[in-house]
Amino acid sequence: MLKLYNTLTRRVQAFRPIEKGKVRLYSCGPTVYDHTHLGHMRAYIAVDILRRTLKYLSYEVNHVMNITDVGHLRGDRDMGEDKLESAAKKKAKTAWEIAREYEEEFFTVMDGLNIKRPGTLCRATEYIEPMIELVKVLEKKGFTYRTSDGIYFDTSKMPDYNGLSKLPLEELKEGARVEVNDEKKNPTDFALWKFTPKGEDRQMEWASPWAKKSFPGWHIECSAMSRKHLGDRIDIHTGGVDHIHVHHTNERAQNWASTGHRVVNWWVHNEFLMVEGKKMSKSLGNFLIASDIEKKGFVPLSIRYLFLTVQYRRRTNFTWKSLAAAQTGLGKLQDQVLKLEGESVETLAGKKFEKRFAQALEDDLNLTEALAIGWEVLKSKLSDGEKHRLLISFDRVLGLDLGHKKKLEVSQEVVVLANRREEARQKQDWKQADMLRDKLKKLGFEIEDHAEGYRLKKK
Ligand code: AMP
Ligand code: ZN
Repeated sequence: MLKLYNTLTRRVQAFRPIEKGKVRLYSCGPTVYDHTHLGHMRAYIAVDILRRTLKYLSYEVNHVMNITDVGHLRGDRDMGEDKLESAAKKKAKTAWEIAREYEEEFFTVMDGLNIKRPGTLCRATEYIEPMIELVKVLEKKGFTYRTSDGIYFDTSKMPDYNGLSKLPLEELKEGARVEVNDEKKNPTDFALWKFTPKGEDRQMEWASPWAKKSFPGWHIECSAMSRKHLGDRIDIHTGGVDHIHVHHTNERAQNWASTGHRVVNWWVHNEFLMVEGKKMSKSLGNFLIASDIEKKGFVPLSIRYLFLTVQYRRRTNFTWKSLAAAQTGLGKLQDQVLKLEGESVETLAGKKFEKRFAQALEDDLNLTEALAIGWEVLKSKLSDGEKHRLLISFDRVLGLDLGHKKKLEVSQEVVVLANRREEARQKQDWKQADMLRDKLKKLGFEIEDHAEGYRLKKK
């Protein structure tokens, strides 16, 4: 039986879906105002593992994900500029262009990581009506009030407002005070609907019952879209841990206030990714996107392999060294599976491995263990045919292209040499740099230098 950690209870619990054999799964999607980064990769690999595990365990999965293309303001709360509008100004494009371009980039990156696309994808801008309807319900039930800049949710009316976050209310209030808004009744109250400020030109705005020019708050989209597609009782809702105290706490309040009951049974959150020991941020220069990784000669699946080696609830620290090791591991695994030939048989010993693999998945998605079992199979005394059968079956969850005639183009040796050459070049040790360039040539690679780093090309 699958056991999953539930942030709501802070316990690993036996998973029981609402409807036998079926899972209603909702994932908070990206805010499409900038490049897809390594943190996104970690978050959505975790979702993909969950979804593939559910399928592997024979559940039918109805997976819905949103794309936030409006309403997410800079501070995550209700003040500051809309991330989309602000990116549009900076990049001299329309907010709509920005949204569609980054959405496309997001899915290109996800495809490279073998992340399955959600069954239903919903863009916030295409669900304005259901969001308005939901705010109207909340208004009718007496949970809202109006200020000069929007319609707000009165969190003092939600008895268990901090039930998901578990932080004392005072602490939640302190967090909310970062962004001052004197008109709010309680610091934790949040905007359901915002009015376009007078004199401000917004590209994304709509007429609503409350103002001629207005737009949705960030949290209402997920409540409205998840329930439109999955109904008023949902099995699992996913997101990163950063969403626990604000976004998901507010979604939960909206859900409860409008239905009078709990809507989401399992809240599943992935831990954060750090880069070289620090929080990933543009100012620290460690904000990594797909092209940074590919330029260094890594294939996208090496990132998937790397994240499979760390359980989704553990904070993980990305280093180039660990990625190089992951790429080597992936290459070896792919090579070994490719070499396996022979009749596909089923023995008791093989079945035992299969059982252990399923048990690892059922143990709150312990992919570290599941992957290790894959390696054990390869080293075991099973016949090649059976090893092949097992690894191909495990790959339904691992998603590492096992058994495909697609080999890694760059070995770890090449990556290490290229990195050493880059270091030499930065130290202006031209002799060493040239020596390493020659070595790379012998291995069949040309190296090109660019302002942002090197790029490898096959000769
Ligand atoms: P955003 O595009 O910021 O709305 O984030 C989309 C999803 O990625 C959310 O579920 C975030 O929690 C998750 N996420 C963002 N940054 C990271 C990170 N550094 N590590 C893990 N997950 C992240
Ligand atoms: Zn959301």
